[in-house]
Amino acid sequence: MEETLESNLQDTRQYATCDQCGRDSGKGWSFAFKKPVPDGHPDAGEVIKCSRCAVRHRPMVRRSIIVAVVVGTILTLLNQGDVLLAGHWNDAMYWKVPLTYCVPFLVASYGALTNSRR
Ligand SMILES: [Zn+2]
Repeated sequence: MEETLESNLQDTRQYATCDQCGRDSGKGWSFAFKKPVPDGHPDAGEVIKCSRCAVRHRPMVRRSIIVAVVVGTILTLLNQGDVLLAGHWNDAMYWKVPLTYCVPFLVASYGALTNSRR
């Protein structure tokens, strides 16, 4: 009986409420992001978000886009640079180049979400 009460208490502690939409999310499905204010600021701290709100967290999306532009451009030049510079743009490039930008975006977003997971 006492064990059940204790495990129930642990269960309630494993849920977090999203600071943006108010939805409860289970263990491993809530994400904590640092507030975009300098350290020592009175409003400094963390904001808790559910998975739906976390994937739309603007500072994370902005960073992932920057990573995608930098890394995607380097990878495109490495992989398709000779074709692009020669001016032989073929049909495969219409899916290869966008995909080359998507991969670093997804990897950066996945890494950020994994690090902020609670
Ligand atoms: Zn939410």
